[in-house]
Amino acid sequence: MHVKIIIGLILGIAWAFLSSYIGWNSFTINWIDPFGQIFIRLLKFIAVPLVLFSIISGVSGLSDISKLGRMGLKTLLVYLVTTVTAVTVGLLLVNFFKPGTFIDEQQRVKNRIEYEQWVTQTTGVGVKDGVSYLTDPAYRDVVEEVTSPEALERMQQEREQMIGSQLQTAEQSKETPPLQFLVDMVPENIILSISDNGLMLQVIFFAIFFGITLIMVPKKHSQPVIDFVNGINEVFLKMVDLVMKAAPFFVFALLAGVIAKMANTPAEVFEIFKSLGSYSVTVAVGLLFMIFIFYPLIITAFVRKLSYKKFFKSMSPAQFLAFSTSSSAATLPVTMECVEENIGVSKNVTSFVLPIGATVNMDGTSLYQAVAVIFLAQLHLVDLTLGQQLTIVLTATLASIGSAAVPSAGLVMLIIVLQSVGLNPAWIAIIFPVDRILDMLRTVVNVTGDATVSTLIAKSEGELLKS
Ligand code: ASP
Repeated sequence: MHVKIIIGLILGIAWAFLSSYIGWNSFTINWIDPFGQIFIRLLKFIAVPLVLFSIISGVSGLSDISKLGRMGLKTLLVYLVTTVTAVTVGLLLVNFFKPGTFIDEQQRVKNRIEYEQWVTQTTGVGVKDGVSYLTDPAYRDVVEEVTSPEALERMQQEREQMIGSQLQTAEQSKETPPLQFLVDMVPENIILSISDNGLMLQVIFFAIFFGITLIMVPKKHSQPVIDFVNGINEVFLKMVDLVMKAAPFFVFALLAGVIAKMANTPAEVFEIFKSLGSYSVTVAVGLLFMIFIFYPLIITAFVRKLSYKKFFKSMSPAQFLAFSTSSSAATLPVTMECVEENIGVSKNVTSFVLPIGATVNMDGTSLYQAVAVIFLAQLHLVDLTLGQQLTIVLTATLASIGSAAVPSAGLVMLIIVLQSVGLNPAWIAIIFPVDRILDMLRTVVNVTGDATVSTLIAKSEGELLKS
């Protein structure tokens, strides 16, 4: 199966380039892309009921409830450790490679002056790091050019156009009270929670609560419900199987569509990569390190019988899907299937650990956010102190937990990380052009991370059935 998916993926990319070359882009968008959309919809509508029923079925099948609490704590702890590790890897790489310094010095001086201007405007006082290009006579010409009213307005307009809606979303989520996340986890109305893919944590909360209560009800009442839930769960699992049969074709359509919509000419692509290449490569190196070195190392260290090769073979359908959909939520049904059937983790563990992971554990996103923030600072000649870098560890961890499992969510939450160290949130516009591609890769990391952690938890709980 995974060979077929790879073929679909490669053909999709090839088709997109060919069709833009011969001017068939609109054909691709009108007649091929819709099938990619259908695929994502199919996966998404399966995800919520599958999470609901598989958690209820998993929890109600537990013989010992205290195991659930222990597993929950362990899961959250390991998720936290992997995320902090990912941010640290990102920070080390970006401080080592310094991708921001690859950019033309002249441009960076301009950026720095714009930054100082912005700080003065928003805080009323100048920058605090003791350097000021704005008042340095040596840069007077550049200062005049950069701070002319026309230049400022043009910059403002360009950025607002690109990121206006993202800024709004992040602004809304910034000013929330500290315990709001707990409040948000509890559903007000379960039907509403089920109908909104963004409220997955509420569905998880409900399902766990429902499952536990089910165990407390006399057998004669609970058994029919348990049988019913198990039956429905099987049906949804079968649906995943059926949809996946057509996955190679759907992946082809999805990638052809995504790339056709980018619709950049080769010259434009080259320009983008010239200025953002060093950044993209740094992010990619970090993400590939996580996928090919970090997770396999953990797996082989803790689960001896699961070899490097077997781990990838088991996970590859989910990984390719994560790459083509850029959404860990849409990939969730397939991740569950791969971890359960190929790696052999019991349903009790997957049904619980993976849905939580898809919503809160995003190692790829947090790594990328760390690299992006420091790169943007380097690009503006801003030196971040150790204290600020530690703040980034904290905020990138929280921001990745808060990111929804959908395309580009990480970019939106990056705004919060930038603000936490006093940088201009509008800078996300700078890395916007390469974001979709990096999003594909970081989603693979997010999904692989969830699978790794669930395998570890299963091993420690004696719930690894095969391998
Ligand atoms: N697309 C990612 C995911 O679904 C989130 C992100 O934008 O980083 O996992």
